[in-house]
Amino acid sequence: MIGYVVLPVMMVSRLPTDVDSNRSRFTSRPAGWESTSRSTVGISPNVGIRGNPNPNEHFVDQAVYVAPAKSITTNFSTDKTKKKTETIPADVFESTNLEILRATFDIMGSQSLPTSATPVVMKTTKLADSKRKKIMITGGAGFVGSHLVDKLMMEGHEVIVVDNFFTGQKHNIEHWLHHPNFSLIVHDVTEPIMLEVDQIYHLACPASPPHYQYNPVKTIKTSTMGTINMLGLAKRVRARMLLTSTSEIYGDPLEHPQKESYWGNVNTIGPRSCYDEGKRVAETMMYSYRNQNQVEVRVARIFNTFGPRMHPNDGRVVSNFIIQALQNKPITIYGNGEQTRSFQYVSDLVEGLYKLMNNDYDLPVNLGNPDEYSVKDFAHYIKNITSSDSVITMLPKNQDDPSQRKPDISTAKKQLGWSPQVSVRDGLENTITYFQRVLDESGEIVPTGPGAAKPEA
Ligand code: NAD
Ligand code: UDP
Repeated sequence: MIGYVVLPVMMVSRLPTDVDSNRSRFTSRPAGWESTSRSTVGISPNVGIRGNPNPNEHFVDQAVYVAPAKSITTNFSTDKTKKKTETIPADVFESTNLEILRATFDIMGSQSLPTSATPVVMKTTKLADSKRKKIMITGGAGFVGSHLVDKLMMEGHEVIVVDNFFTGQKHNIEHWLHHPNFSLIVHDVTEPIMLEVDQIYHLACPASPPHYQYNPVKTIKTSTMGTINMLGLAKRVRARMLLTSTSEIYGDPLEHPQKESYWGNVNTIGPRSCYDEGKRVAETMMYSYRNQNQVEVRVARIFNTFGPRMHPNDGRVVSNFIIQALQNKPITIYGNGEQTRSFQYVSDLVEGLYKLMNNDYDLPVNLGNPDEYSVKDFAHYIKNITSSDSVITMLPKNQDDPSQRKPDISTAKKQLGWSPQVSVRDGLENTITYFQRVLDESGEIVPTGPGAAKPEA
């Protein structure tokens, strides 16, 4: 009986202390970041839900009171200095709390737990064994991966995240850590791994330029050795595997907008090459394994994506501009700002990845929102919608910075029936709300500039 009772108390009470225990080396957050106030309101990882107070406050509190028949001391409290001791007589416990305990197990097995980072509860579907898949997501603790985890968990599948936390953050997936359908394996994909899975979404790879340029050799190893290892696994267990490739494989494109048939214009020895060429060879590996070993492959070429859970220090244009604007700091444009990008909201990307994985089409597919902006116009746009007093400053251009980028998404429309549903404006509002909350918790964020994340010699 006692063992039965202690378990949920331990699972619930460890959550607040675990928040953000895995800090990335890129993080320059002050200690205030670790605030776990459950009264914090924030934005759901799902589109459009904002400002919801924790709807399950009573549930969390009840779980604390589900104590062993004798007594328990727990420090589960928003005030970490306050310890709470409850002594519950065995007969009272058995008659009243056993029902709560059973309900607690039922609830915990069917939803996410609210956390300060992800306050909204997400309900999981109960799937029949025959329909429930074992799905591995490499890079599942990162920005895109964690949203994909949410979708697949809510669908009722078993999800295994494999991540080395290089740029991922534990708090992106913390709300699932208790759920019986969820597993986290801290592992580097450059090493082989043996698992039994039905599908592999292979996302593991740093994605922002400062992150992938931090250790270019490691970026190449992640794209090449990591993809070979995952393909070896897919071959062995006959899993279908999806690679998250990138618009960067088109380099500085001479064709505009970019169709999947375009072969690209890539410098093999520039600062972006570790990422661009790494992804290009990863695509080649995918089709070599398909042709030689009949591995079922899917390749998504992802264009610039933004949304909540972007790393505040990833140095990308969306996170930098919003964080700069919200703090009235200078908005930094690299070059003359005439270069263009097209921005997609993260929920659209997740939907596209899901549709691609579960579709018969097996050639590369562009996933992006063709809504194209010059970086200069985008800076003014962010300044306006945040009502910021920031000045806009021009810094030197980054080497090999692509001058234009816009997806042709006719393949995705035709083959997957997919097109973006969230406007850039709506997506930005969600993202601004998210970063405002991150700023409220951390006090100040110094955005990452070009070349800022170089390792010590
Ligand atoms: P991210 O940096 O937030 O996530 C990458 C994840 O991979 C992190 O959790 C990181 O810890 C993990 N990782 C990195 N190297 C690893 C290794 N060797 N072993 C195990 N885990 C490792 O990036 P993201 O924006 O979520 O991008 C996800 C994927 O989508 C990447 O493959 C990226 O190339 C691709 N992509 C993203 C965008 C975008 O705009 N976000 C655009 C094009 C392509
Ligand atoms: N950029 C910028 N200021 C910043 C960050 C980025 O002007 O603070 C520019 C960058 O030079 C590029 C564009 O914004 O032209 C998009 O950069 P990002 O790093 O988001 O992604 P990329 O598409 O280059 O991989």
